Amino acid sequence: MEDRDTGSNGTRRATTAALLTGVLFCGRCGGKMYRNVRKDRRNLYHCRSNSGKHCGNGTVACDTLDAVVADDLMKNFGEFPHGRREYVHGTDNGSTIAEIDAELESYAAAVGRFPAGSPSWKSMMSNVDSLTARRGELMAQPQVASGWQHVRSGQTFAAFWNGLNEVGRNDFLRDNHVRVELARERGEQPTWTIYYGDVLGMIEAVNPELGETTRAWLERVRAGTAKPRGIPEVAAAMERYKRG
Ligand SMILES: [Zn+2]
Repeated sequence: MEDRDTGSNGTRRATTAALLTGVLFCGRCGGKMYRNVRKDRRNLYHCRSNSGKHCGNGTVACDTLDAVVADDLMKNFGEFPHGRREYVHGTDNGSTIAEIDAELESYAAAVGRFPAGSPSWKSMMSNVDSLTARRGELMAQPQVASGWQHVRSGQTFAAFWNGLNEVGRNDFLRDNHVRVELARERGEQPTWTIYYGDVLGMIEAVNPELGETTRAWLERVRAGTAKPRGIPEVAAAMERYKRG
């Protein structure tokens, strides 16, 4: 039985998804590679062309390649403090202060119509005093803008990853555009390449606070002054993050 991706009809995938379904591609023909579930033997990833005009690529044991990908993830991202994005409703007193200012202006316009010291005048002055005091309090409060903030979950990415089931891990890889290519010549050991196609998205998924650092790094990759693999800047950013 083959572990084909069922696309929008996720029923089957929910029960049979392999870690690398939709992530693993054939290094020869570019087609998707699927898990071939075999009774009493090791499951294998094989190219979809296996069931038609075969491109000639070899297979690899699922547990071997799954472990390779998980190890690479842990090496590059495992120690990151994991977090999630959360919308924070800030404190913005601007509109309240504007209302108070409008009220004070109306008193300023009206106060001349009453004799100084009269009961109405005293009442107005009392209101002006309390509004002015309230305005001062509001002005003194720290203003926090509303927006998305990164909230640390208190666990590392490794712990987060370990807490996911296989479907959750597969979703994470696909959502973050991780791509693995596998090639195997007849009689040779398999070779593979792991691409973090959307490194920024990947980093932000692990820890959005590092998004800016990663963005800068990606610019250098584009300019040819940084290597697109190896992610040393990520390690450096993580060190800074830990110290901060
Ligand atoms: Zn192929």
